[in-house]
Order: sequence, then structure tokens, then C-alpha cells
Amino acid sequence: MVNLIAFDCDGVLRDESESYTRCIAETVAFFDNNIFATTEELNESIKESNDDWERTHRILQQRGVFVDFGIVKEHFQDLYLGKKINFSGYINNEPWLVDNNLLGQLIKRYILIIVSGAPIDEVKYALKKNNAEKYFQLILGMNECKSKKDGLHFAIEKFKPKKVFFCDDRPSPIKSVKELGNMTNAYGILPPVYDIGWKEILLDSGAEKVFDDVNDYCKFLIELK
Ligand SMILES: [Mg+2]
Repeated sequence: MVNLIAFDCDGVLRDESESYTRCIAETVAFFDNNIFATTEELNESIKESNDDWERTHRILQQRGVFVDFGIVKEHFQDLYLGKKINFSGYINNEPWLVDNNLLGQLIKRYILIIVSGAPIDEVKYALKKNNAEKYFQLILGMNECKSKKDGLHFAIEKFKPKKVFFCDDRPSPIKSVKELGNMTNAYGILPPVYDIGWKEILLDSGAEKVFDDVNDYCKFLIELK
């Protein structure tokens, strides 16, 4: 029996913050007279939803601009992935946050998987672009599982690990996977961009420890006896 490490993707392995923000701001501008979403609108919208398509749609609604959700989403995706869905959009500008050498050390002792709330094609694209596909034995995206907890449960059934190490940059997944029992250890990772007090929020959600970035977390797991 081996131990399993389940990584979140966005904010942990890849920094999607700037590319997503740019897509929101530009999509809003496209449908509303070239007026980009402001920092205030962006900050307000994140309090109401983590879903960037919903955030874009809502900002427009609050400005009194009513466009069908599907059309907003389509324009956002054109900017993000490119018009032909050929990954020529802003997805190409996303920094890779993890040191692949550390992943290489981890696979000697652990099974590595990804449980992400993003579409699987985007996660796979990031892995391929950063030469990191070979480290992960399973990838679950937004359509492969209902939630992080659901995805992790599936992985536990599949690999039957002795212990599970889960990490995320948001509180709700940490809270939910704690329900899977004692074998699951949940940790917080600070994303590249975060609000003051985020560390405490992750700790309050049940994270055993919060790391400044994913590489510190990997080193912790490598050194774990
Ligand atoms: Mg995340």
C-alpha cells in the first residue's frame, strides 16, 4: 500500500489568475462599449462566485447589460482558448508553479493525481506544455467528478492508499474532503494572488498546515517520514 497525493490545479500547479481576470475584463468590455471590468467589479464578483463565466455574466447584469449566459461564456472561451479552441488564447500565458524536479522525487514514494475544478482538457494542456504529464497517474476535471470530495473518494477506491495528502488554495474543498475520514490529510496552499487573512481562512476550514507555495508543500512531503 502506498500513499496518495492529490493536487488541486488552479492556483496550486498553474497560475491562471491573470489570464482569467484578463478574459473577464475583456469580455465585459466586448459587450459593454469597450468599458473593461474594474478592479472593484472584479473583487466584488469573486465574493459571489468562483466561476469566472458567472462572474463575467454578473458584472454585465449589474451594469444593466443583459446578454445570454451562453454567449458570454463563448466569448470568454474564445479569448481564453482561442477562437478555434486551439489553445492559442491567454491560457498560453499561465505560469507553471511547481518545480518538476520535486514531482520527480515525489513519484518515487507516492501516487500523484490531480483533482481539479477546471475542464480536463485545460489541465492536460497545462501539463503537456510544462512537460509534467508523466508524473500523474490520474487526472479528474470538472466533468469527471461532482466535487473534490467525490473525486478523491473515487481515487481512494481505485488506488486503496494507506494515507491521502490533499491540498487546495480554497477553503471549501478542504472542508469537504475532511469528511472522508482520518486517512485524509488536508493542507492549504497560498495561491499567487490572495487576500489578507487567506492563511487563517484556510486554517479555519480545517487545513492542518498552510504553505506559502506548492514547492514548500512538496518539500514537506519529500521529507515526511
Ligand atoms: Mg484552486
